[in-house]
Amino acid sequence: MDSSDDEQQQEYLFKVVIIGDSAVGKSNLLSRYAKNEFNIHSKATIGVEFQTQTMDIHGKEVKAQIWDTAGQERFRAVTSAYYRGAVGALVVYDITRTTTFDSVERWLQELQTHSDTTVARMLVGNKCDLENIRGVSVEDGKSLAEKQGMFFLETSALDSTNVKTAFEMVIREIYDNIV
Ligand code: GDP
Ligand code: MG
Repeated sequence: MDSSDDEQQQEYLFKVVIIGDSAVGKSNLLSRYAKNEFNIHSKATIGVEFQTQTMDIHGKEVKAQIWDTAGQERFRAVTSAYYRGAVGALVVYDITRTTTFDSVERWLQELQTHSDTTVARMLVGNKCDLENIRGVSVEDGKSLAEKQGMFFLETSALDSTNVKTAFEMVIREIYDNIV
């Protein structure tokens, strides 16, 4: 870092949450993005966990603190502390299970209930590597995202498709919202 440059001293730290039904791949999206790791037998995370990732936007160092649920979503009991201060969200469903897509609007509702600021939101259809057992069409994903005014991407935490792009589009949007 060039310490003589005052512009560089500005620090940005954004909180981003990942929400969606159980087993859609939230934890694997985060581990793929933050550690380039994938777990076939991933267990529900114990305790609230987040990973911090840094990216460069127009020469500025921007940090994202990305929160993963500790499996509470199985009991529909994600707490307000989880959402507190979030300025970005990835709302994830599994393209092979329509029930997880049907839950998206409920997750968006919950997100809105808990946020008092503009939240950059990305709809994520995960597991796009499983094309042969797809249950939700790309069109349905797109049109829900349009209706809700959010970004949309299909991803695969397994083969890495669009994972980095999904997180970085959200982080960029947060940055654009505040600058
Ligand atoms: P979470 O409950 O939403 O955090 O979901 P996990 O990340 O624990 O993933 C649930 C299961 O789906 C695990 O068995 C993962 O290996 C699997 N999984 C996650 N992402 C993908 C993906 O992109 N493709 C495939 N084929 N499986 C995935
Ligand atoms: Mg998980």
